[in-house]
Amino acid sequence: MAKFEHKKSLGQNFLKTESILDIIVDGGNIGPGDIVLEIGPGEGALTAKLISKIEERGGEKLICIEKDHRLIPILSEKFSRETGSGVAEILEKDILKWSSDEYFEERANKNYKLIANIPYYITGAILEKFFSAKYKPTIIIVMVQKEVADRVVSRDGKQNILGLCTKFYGDSEILKIVKPGNFNPPPKVDSAVLKITLRNDVTRVTDPRFEKTYLSVVKKGLAHKRKKLSSNLRDADENYNWPELFTLLDIDLNARGEDLPFEVWMKMSEEYLKNKTN
Ligand code: SAM
Repeated sequence: MAKFEHKKSLGQNFLKTESILDIIVDGGNIGPGDIVLEIGPGEGALTAKLISKIEERGGEKLICIEKDHRLIPILSEKFSRETGSGVAEILEKDILKWSSDEYFEERANKNYKLIANIPYYITGAILEKFFSAKYKPTIIIVMVQKEVADRVVSRDGKQNILGLCTKFYGDSEILKIVKPGNFNPPPKVDSAVLKITLRNDVTRVTDPRFEKTYLSVVKKGLAHKRKKLSSNLRDADENYNWPELFTLLDIDLNARGEDLPFEVWMKMSEEYLKNKTN
C-alpha cells in the first residue's frame, strides 16, 4: 500500500504510542449503552481501541467523523466488520459543518461522549460547537496543544476567556502531558490530554438568555487584558450602572478580570441580566 501523505492543513499528526491511546480511552470510562463520537479517526489507531472498549463494556456504538476523503476507504476496510454489525459508523464530513443536534434528535439515546485526538487548528471551534449544542456530550476528552489545555484549566491561577467559558459548562483536568515524539509526524509543540466533565444541568438545558449573557460578560470583561475590569465593561455597555453592581458584589473598582473567580463572573452576569435595559 502506498505510504499515506499527511496533510499539515488538516492537522494530521497521528498518535503512535499505545499507552497514550489507552489514557484517552480509559479517561472516557466507557460503560453499558454508551455512544462515543470520535472526530478525525485518521488511520484508526484510537478508533480500534475505542471499539474494543465499547464491545468489552457493552457500549452502544462509535460514530467517526473524518473530513479527509483519502482516509475513508482505509477506515472502511479496516473496520468493515464493525461497520457491518453497526457498532461503528464512519461518516465523511467536516465536523464544523455536521449537525450533531440533527443526528441525536433522531435517536432515542441522546447522551454521548466525545473522545478524540482532534486537529489542533479547530480546537476552539470544536469546543464552542459542542458547548453550545442542544445535545451536549456528557464528557469531552480531547488531545489539544498543551498551551490551550493550560488555559482551559487556568493552570497559572489567572482567569482567561477560554477557561471561564469552559467552567460554565463543566469541570476540566489535564490527564497527561504528551511530548511531540508520540505522534507521526511530530507536532512542533507539546500536547495534553484534556478531560472536561460537563455538568448534568448543562448537558440538557441551559437558560439561553443567561448562557448568552454570561459568555458576553466574560468576553467583554476580558477584552483588553491591560485594562481594569470596570473600564472593559464600561466600554461594552456605557449605559449600565457598573459601579453600583461592583458595590453590590463587593468587587474592587480597580480589579482586573483575570483575578476574579468563576463564581463572581456568574454573579455579575446574573445581576447584569436582571437590570440591563437592552
Ligand atoms: N485520530 C487519529 C490519531 O489519533 O492518530 C488522527 C488524529 S489527527 C490529529 C486529526 C484528524 O482529524 C485527521 O485524520 C484529519 O484528517 C481529521 N480532520 C481534520 N479536520 C477535520 C474536520 N474539519 N472534520 C473532521 N475531521 C477532520
